Amino acid sequence: MSDPRVLVLSDHVCNKIAAGEVIERPASVFKELVENAIDAGAGLIDTEVLQGGRKAVIVTDNGHGMSRENALLSLERHATSKIRDVDDIEHIHTMGFRGEALAAIAAVSRFRVCTRRPEDLGGTELIVEGGELRDVRDIGCPSGTTIEVRNLFFNVPARRKFLRTESTELGNIRTMFRIFALAHPGIAFRLTVDGRELEHWPAQTSLADRIADLYGDAFLEQLREVSLRQQDLHIHGFAGIPSLNRSDRRDQVILVNRRASTAPVVGYAIKESYRDTLPRDRNPVVFLHLDMPPDWVDVNVHPTKREVRFRNAQRIRDAIFTALDQALRPADLSAPAPTPEPAPVARPLQRAPGARQPDLPPPSPSYPPLPPSPLHPRPAQFPSGGPSTPGDTPPGIPPPPSNLSHGPWQQAEILGITGSRFVLLETEDGLVIMDPAAARERILYERAMDELQNGTPAAQPLLLPETVQCLPDEAESLRNRLAEARALGFGIEPFGGDSFLIEALPAWMGDVAPEPVLHALARDLDTGANRIDTPKALRDALARSCCRLAAESRGPLPPAVLKQLVTDLQHCRMPYTTPFGRPTLIHMGFRELRRKFGLTD
Ligand code: ADP
Ligand code: MG
Repeated sequence: MSDPRVLVLSDHVCNKIAAGEVIERPASVFKELVENAIDAGAGLIDTEVLQGGRKAVIVTDNGHGMSRENALLSLERHATSKIRDVDDIEHIHTMGFRGEALAAIAAVSRFRVCTRRPEDLGGTELIVEGGELRDVRDIGCPSGTTIEVRNLFFNVPARRKFLRTESTELGNIRTMFRIFALAHPGIAFRLTVDGRELEHWPAQTSLADRIADLYGDAFLEQLREVSLRQQDLHIHGFAGIPSLNRSDRRDQVILVNRRASTAPVVGYAIKESYRDTLPRDRNPVVFLHLDMPPDWVDVNVHPTKREVRFRNAQRIRDAIFTALDQALRPADLSAPAPTPEPAPVARPLQRAPGARQPDLPPPSPSYPPLPPSPLHPRPAQFPSGGPSTPGDTPPGIPPPPSNLSHGPWQQAEILGITGSRFVLLETEDGLVIMDPAAARERILYERAMDELQNGTPAAQPLLLPETVQCLPDEAESLRNRLAEARALGFGIEPFGGDSFLIEALPAWMGDVAPEPVLHALARDLDTGANRIDTPKALRDALARSCCRLAAESRGPLPPAVLKQLVTDLQHCRMPYTTPFGRPTLIHMGFRELRRKFGLTD
């Protein structure tokens, strides 16, 4: 057998091979072209797509353009104006740096560049087909650059076959377009698809304004501002309250030094931050900028540059966690709470005696004074008696810094009950509809967690111990798990047969009827029987109990109790959802209302 000759591949072949790495589909072309436009300092980026990008992707910018010489050079593989040396990779501030995108794209398409620098009188047009330069000529054109990429993979049939349907390819492009628009609010973006302008976003001064443009004011109002600086690390952006959640991660945009990025550690930190507020299969909405010195991050993991690695992943993870925690949880509660009073504790969440009270008078100071909740001793900030004074805050708990968002409201006034159940509130920036059962579920859950963290929760002895007759399987699981039940604060003894004597209930539960509680607990212990050994399983079982109990106390609540509920919810670490992710409140901002009524600010 003859020795096969080793050949140096021609540039042409290399470009075609490299194209496979950098350019997978029309969306990759779109991405490379828009990134180049951003790198060129454009203030306006106009994009056009035909047939999902299979027929054409055209990007026009008003950036710094190229001289004829540079335009020609830009098509050479590894031609870049952005780095000169390997060391420069450590300090990249631009989106591109490999200098292979244009060459790769031009190798597998019908390619046209028109470009002019502002200082030049005339521009340059280049036409390339399948990597062969067909024409170079002078042309009159506005300053900036237009790049047209038509018939992608026309000369690589194997690749063309792998393109997805037009709508899938277009979907990818639109997702990418939105990410660019979010990453660069200062740039105006336009997207035209098959002759129709689909998106047109003017230049904005802030991410918030761009988000409002893209998603609407109502959406923006469900976001909380994230802002954390730790030396050279700056994490900023927005995090959705948990009730704003998605089945996929489409609305999680992570920008590392302005580049759309993924990194397992970031995904993990986000998931952890929402752990006790979202069901496992739901994903929060987050728009996060992670700005750090370029040499902290390795963007050279993959040619399409989406996945990044951090030099100190743990630091990034912890910082994201802290940043989201601060954004989503009231700042004043991150301070250690004063020591709880011993049991019996206040029971602010009693079931309402008597019938429904359809119309609540506006809360007034003449309401009977409320016992402060032991774990949330901060006095109520409503009714709307004007902004709270510094004297409202007991010593030891610093007032929340005003630049942080905290809780769903600062001031809230109960307007009434609607739908026989929901509490209508007016807050400083809008209306809130609160589901009291869901609110109660959240409050109880946090109390339980706080108490469990400090050991066995306080037990509240019943005035009259109660005997409860259980079903045989309930009784079986209770007998097997008496220790766990006691660890939760239940005073419970077997009482012969399938009966149990309840002498005390966990104090954090407030005022609830013992019998349904015991049945609920037995069922939870039963379902959790195989997993109950871990603290996490115990916690889940607890959360489930809370849910059931709260759901069972859906009776109408007297004004004083409602008022306390509103205050307690305001002071929750995560006031927006139940431990299972069901919303506790729905917010309708005044801004959104004005918009709905066609009033412009
Ligand atoms: P990279 O972006 O990695 O440098 P590319 O192949 O994408 O490599 O681009 C090669 C070079 O062409 C860039 O470094 C830049 O100098 C120039 N270039 C590409 N697109 C534009 C544009 N829209 N405006 C001005 N210059 C551009
Ligand atoms: Mg580039």
